[in-house]
Amino acid sequence: MDYEGQICRPPMERGSYMLPVAVGCSYNACTFCTLFKHLKYRELPMEKIEEELLRVKNLGGSPKRIFLGDGNPFGMKTDRLLAILDLIHKYFPLCNDINMDSTITNIHDKTDDELKLLYDNGVRELYLGIECGTEDVLEFMKKDHTIPEAYRELERLKRLGILYSAHLMLGTAGKGRGLENAENTARFINDTKPNKIINTSIFLHRRAPLYREIEKGTFIPATELENLMEERRLIELLDVEIKSYDGFHDMLEIRTRGHLPDDKEKMLKHLDEAIENERKREESLVRSA
Ligand code: SF4
Repeated sequence: MDYEGQICRPPMERGSYMLPVAVGCSYNACTFCTLFKHLKYRELPMEKIEEELLRVKNLGGSPKRIFLGDGNPFGMKTDRLLAILDLIHKYFPLCNDINMDSTITNIHDKTDDELKLLYDNGVRELYLGIECGTEDVLEFMKKDHTIPEAYRELERLKRLGILYSAHLMLGTAGKGRGLENAENTARFINDTKPNKIINTSIFLHRRAPLYREIEKGTFIPATELENLMEERRLIELLDVEIKSYDGFHDMLEIRTRGHLPDDKEKMLKHLDEAIENERKREESLVRSA
């Protein structure tokens, strides 16, 4: 199947078979996101999806784990999602681990019975763009949820057996607010207990609506040093088990990975070294300016 858009899936899903079921994101309004801005959201025809499953089957594929693409497949109507799950089971009866990206609103729009039915048909984990735990930042970034809404919907999800993993984004609060943002995010994560965390620094692209805010002076980006310090403070404050944490930065070759709490000290040490190096680099830039 020809893929339209930018392939974006959590690193923990790299071993999964990615099955596109839609093009773009039906929300498409987050101001920092450029992934699908150029695409008009549409659901792929069922024949195309079946064709793709058959292609993989004919190649001898037998995936046990499938990641549905693209931006927020969980936003599709439950009947359609169930029809896709049926097709998956028709070709791959052993596959019972089907995961995808979702927004908080997508969960809100499904009843408890629908969530249970989706779980019973193989949906195991949703990846949610939580980004951070600071209310006014979510509003500024035009996320489709508030903190209380996220608490409420994640609680429903958990009660009905579906796991949640969090996409976080360092630097969303802008210059000078990284540590405050880390504390709010840590509180949210400690309360809602995601299975895994993917934490990236904000990617500031000219095509993103957020870039207009930078030009107007209404958003001042944090420095790379601030982003590292935000990440360190967040990890320091986490006191829940996180099966897999994967943190990386857009402009720095720093990657912090591990299981929490077991690897916490190692991860903090790694970030302390990165902070020290970045501090020296920033100081030398100031001296040579
Ligand atoms: S919900 Fe996700 S994919 Fe859609 S615009 Fe927001 S960040 Fe981008």
